[in-house]
Amino acid sequence: MVILLADAFSSDLPERLGSFGEVVTDLGRVSEAEVIIVRSKTKVDKAMIDKAPKLKYVIRGGVGVDTIDVDYAKSKGVAVDNTPEASSLAVAELAFALMLALPNHIAEADSSMKQGKWLKKELERTELGGKTLGLVGIGRIAREVAVRAKAFGMSVIAYDKYVASSDVAKMVSLDELYAKSDYISIHTPLTDETRGMIDAAAIAKMKKTAYLVNTCRGPVVKADDVAAALKAGALGGYATDVYDKEPPENLSLASAPHVVLTPHIGASTEENLTRLGDCIVLRMQKYCKK
Ligand code: NAD
Repeated sequence: MVILLADAFSSDLPERLGSFGEVVTDLGRVSEAEVIIVRSKTKVDKAMIDKAPKLKYVIRGGVGVDTIDVDYAKSKGVAVDNTPEASSLAVAELAFALMLALPNHIAEADSSMKQGKWLKKELERTELGGKTLGLVGIGRIAREVAVRAKAFGMSVIAYDKYVASSDVAKMVSLDELYAKSDYISIHTPLTDETRGMIDAAAIAKMKKTAYLVNTCRGPVVKADDVAAALKAGALGGYATDVYDKEPPENLSLASAPHVVLTPHIGASTEENLTRLGDCIVLRMQKYCKK
């Protein structure tokens, strides 16, 4: 069988998959592929599925399957799997790094020092200790963030439309979370329900000093509404790893104050690429036994 490894994984993965079939990386050979393996770059949409008449199995190395037309794949008899167990630690550590970067003005302190400025008085910090963190969605990644937040002396509350209780966070309504949180970190999938859920109306319910962190998906947050709120002093800060379009164009956030941006690197740790490879090999073993 032809296995199309469409996106970048750990360098040893092609060799590890070699025992299952011929591994190719050329998207031009999609018509021959029985298995397509992607991260988030390659979209397995209707057009791509139509180009792959031999396709039987799509593996998304990662969590979100919003880059795959799962319903269309199923209608064509193509199975779709992800590897949700792999990336939690990597993404949680980035969410936490962003949560630390905002109140400590790490980005501004670094760039001003490199410009020869000494902003010792201007860069007033606040602490995570004693603050309330609100987690929107309390799945695998949020759980890891909660554990780390507690170690920093934070109170952790959470809202999840589909989860009623948690051993790492006190569950509250979404409005209560908005009203009480000093930090809000979003960890939902991108669905019709979550698309645009953090908009001007939601921001208006948050503390004016709240720091918002997004490591889930760009479209969950209306970036223009966040930029407007930051410019108006109606929100404390925003850090995001994810964008409506990637790479983003004409980013309104780039000119807003108290913003930290990273280029969708949540899952991109060396350790996680190895874990993703392990998960993909396990999926292939299972697929080949069927
Ligand atoms: P998960 O499935 O374990 O958790 C998601 C949680 O969101 C679930 O508990 C679910 O009930 C909840 N949820 C769903 N709809 C909701 C709604 N309308 N309101 C509130 N909660 C809702 O997933 P996870 O492993 O924690 O990953 C979360 C998301 O993080 C992924 O879907 C993906 O989009 C994103 N992600 C980003 C990166 C990155 O590189 N930045 C990497 C991996 C995952």
